[in-house]
Amino acid sequence: MTKEAIPNLSEFNDSALDKAFSTLEKQARDDAAALGSPEAVEAFRLEWLGRKQGRLNDVSARWLKSAPPDAKKALGQRFNALKAVVEKLLEDAADAGGSWNDTALAAEAIDITLPGTRRLTGAEHPITRTLNEITSVFAALGYSVGVGPEVETDFYNFECMNFPPGHPARDTQDTLVIANQDRRSQHDRLLLRTHTSPVQMRTMESQPPPVRIVIPGKVHRNDAQDATHSPIFHQVEGLCVDRNITFSDLKGTLDHAMKALFGSSVKTRFFPSFFPFTEPSADVQISCIFCGGKGCRKCKQSGWIELLGCGMVDPAVFAFAAEKQPAYDPKKISGFAFGMGVERIAMMKYGISEIGQLYAGDMRFSNQFA
Ligand SMILES: [Zn+2]
Repeated sequence: MTKEAIPNLSEFNDSALDKAFSTLEKQARDDAAALGSPEAVEAFRLEWLGRKQGRLNDVSARWLKSAPPDAKKALGQRFNALKAVVEKLLEDAADAGGSWNDTALAAEAIDITLPGTRRLTGAEHPITRTLNEITSVFAALGYSVGVGPEVETDFYNFECMNFPPGHPARDTQDTLVIANQDRRSQHDRLLLRTHTSPVQMRTMESQPPPVRIVIPGKVHRNDAQDATHSPIFHQVEGLCVDRNITFSDLKGTLDHAMKALFGSSVKTRFFPSFFPFTEPSADVQISCIFCGGKGCRKCKQSGWIELLGCGMVDPAVFAFAAEKQPAYDPKKISGFAFGMGVERIAMMKYGISEIGQLYAGDMRFSNQFA
């Protein structure tokens, strides 16, 4: 399309005007002949008839206004004639464009009976889903969620949880330590937390009792990968501290939580156990969710599945908390703590046989939970 600016006119006699207008008319006809789409027709309209930058508007501004009075009439007649030509060209082009438009519509027609494009919306990973389910059971009991760092000090991970340096219980949690810390005291040496228990101490140090928290989180141990072990896994731990908290409260809380998670027919039973940070300590078994307690391959014919560790908070743990919050006086308060492995529960709930599948990122596996 021609883009030359409208020239200024120096002469206004008839032959000069005829020449100037016939040049414009030829341009308009050439432009109109090249129109091939509704967009081009609209561009032609703007180019010639646009109110602000149209060429005819330009002609009016440059020629009509600067013409000597005796030439205005002749110029005005030619201007109106040109305008009529452009309008006719536009009309013809729009009519021709109409049929082009129908063809374009037919070509772009969509079959609304075809299935649509499926959008992937994403879904929670089974570990995240299980973490959230466990957390929400305790949230309904008034527990809040506690979080803490995954890189911890030896003090928070072990010492304040009543694993003194050199204590044999440390050997039960094969620990990944951060390198090059020889200059630090053992108290401050950094490691990847082996359990979410450090958050118990961090919470007690930051608030006086009562405390009711669940601590969902990732933990690390130097374990070789096999069907049920992974060097990275998840725990949900809980802590309840107040006046007059007893082992009955612990039993009632966990019995309720297991029924909420696995169904109201699930039974629980408690066995003596040992953890450095609780005294007395117990392992909790639930009646087998696969056979209902009759005995099957999953429960090794026993009818029971071991799922949790728990116990009454050891007074030695409260003594560490009392260094910053004196209200944790074991003579005045008591509490219980419990912990469970999230992968184990997710694997039971969803029938997953290899823990590695949870981390492999294989979409054939992950898509089953979408
Ligand atoms: Zn069973």
